[in-house]
Amino acid sequence: MMITDSIPRRPTRQVRVGNVWIGSDHPIVVQSMTNTDTVDAVGTAQQIYDLWRAGSEMVRITVNSPEAASQVARIRDILAAKGCDVPIVGDFHFNGDRLLRDYPECAEALAKYRINPGNVGKGSKKDEKFAFMIEKAIEYDKPVRIGVNWGSLDQALAVRLMDENSKLAQPLPADAVMREALIRSALDSAAQAVSWGLAQDKIILSCKVSHVQDLIKVYRDLAGRCDYPLHLGLTEAGMGSKGIVASSAALAVLMQDGFGDTIRISLTPEPGGDRAREVIVAQELLQTMGLRSFTPLVTACPGCGRTTSTVFQELAQGIQQYLREQMPIWRLQYPGVEDLKVAVMGCVVNGPGESKLADIGISLPGTGEVPVCPVYVDGEKTVTLKGDRVTEEFLAIVQDYVVTRYQEGGAKRRETAAPRSIPLKQI
Ligand code: SF4
Repeated sequence: MMITDSIPRRPTRQVRVGNVWIGSDHPIVVQSMTNTDTVDAVGTAQQIYDLWRAGSEMVRITVNSPEAASQVARIRDILAAKGCDVPIVGDFHFNGDRLLRDYPECAEALAKYRINPGNVGKGSKKDEKFAFMIEKAIEYDKPVRIGVNWGSLDQALAVRLMDENSKLAQPLPADAVMREALIRSALDSAAQAVSWGLAQDKIILSCKVSHVQDLIKVYRDLAGRCDYPLHLGLTEAGMGSKGIVASSAALAVLMQDGFGDTIRISLTPEPGGDRAREVIVAQELLQTMGLRSFTPLVTACPGCGRTTSTVFQELAQGIQQYLREQMPIWRLQYPGVEDLKVAVMGCVVNGPGESKLADIGISLPGTGEVPVCPVYVDGEKTVTLKGDRVTEEFLAIVQDYVVTRYQEGGAKRRETAAPRSIPLKQI
């Protein structure tokens, strides 16, 4: 797993979470979170497994009740039996101190505790409860994420900062004070944790808000005031394309500036939608920015009036799906295959050019063109496909290319899944 681009990263400490390193020059880590009831150990373990299979490198679960806490170790064990060792992060609010005290097997099974200082308690109780959770983190040798959230900001701190601001000769706008309150909440909580004995290399910070510009301002400021690794995410990003666009806009700006050590794309799932979508979006964001590689990417043109069929769309979609399905095997058998670039183009205008730029490209015929599909490998035209087996033949070429180029120690063919037939209209 290598960083594939040279965007300078903000220097940070490094934190180990289970088998994953965060911060310093380690690759930006993809996180996700379950939406199952943690009490349902089997269902939660299955969703964690699915998220992990999709590429999530850390999965957070809510630990909100004694019943939930009592299932955490079982969830870990179910996953271990399936060969899944993804670090599980416990999300604690309000009663985390009691749960960590009463369920030591939960405290032990989790790889990290996420603590929201705004939801720990009020007044002197807050410090007491927060201190107890930090004590447990030290006892079990676990890192913590101090995760501040706009929607659950420490109200006492916000009121105090507003008060101080109002006495200034030139008070700041209210939203600037609120951003400062978020940052101060995270930094002050981290300082408290350190004063109670938690090592600085056990701390990750996050300050989540729901608006893009606020998030960028908060993190730029926060990053300049500490060297803790930062978890990036837009909270309540929304549903579908809105959530994807908002998260990508905010996180791309920050990552381009070198900020961010773990990310999560918090998409509101559509009814019946796949929870793993947030993992795929996070991977695609990192990969399109050249920060990491996960799965071969398919470049496809958007189509226009020069194509009157959906053949190339079906082929592009089918190939992307095929490549993603192969990755659990290919990742092990063919190191580096995640950098493969495939192009599927709709007509002769940009088809040959774009196909030559990819490792493997196919240019389909547009309306009125001769019904043939030239294929380009490493920039050279190698074969022209036609007829009703174009899909299978092209997938076979892709598969042979993967075996030849990425197999360690030679071009010997190994067993991989046979190319799946993608129903296409005859070309
Ligand atoms: S490659 Fe051809 S079909 Fe695709 S968008 Fe360009 S002109 Fe249209």
